[in-house]
Amino acid sequence: MTVETLDLIKIAQSNKHFAKQISRFGWQRFITFLKYKLEDQGKRLILLNQWYPSSKTCSSCGEVHGELKMHERMYQCPSCDYVIDRDINAAINIKRQGLIILGLA
Ligand SMILES: [Zn+2]
Repeated sequence: MTVETLDLIKIAQSNKHFAKQISRFGWQRFITFLKYKLEDQGKRLILLNQWYPSSKTCSSCGEVHGELKMHERMYQCPSCDYVIDRDINAAINIKRQGLIILGLA
């Protein structure tokens, strides 16, 4: 399983609503728990650092473009015109990067 580490301080400074949700959720505690559960099953947790451009990369053509604003929910690639939900686009990129790190892609 592959997840991104997040710059929580930057997110908290940019959006008070997200700051409340993140602190309530306890992201670091969740990651620790997830790692433990996966290792218990002989699986591995891959953490991508916060600089990996998951939301800026087109999951169709691989081009990297500028940052989307928080309110922009759809990703539209200026290179290939591919349109996809921003979170699904990022999830595809994160999964793909995890497979590359594992040598499976
Ligand atoms: Zn594209």
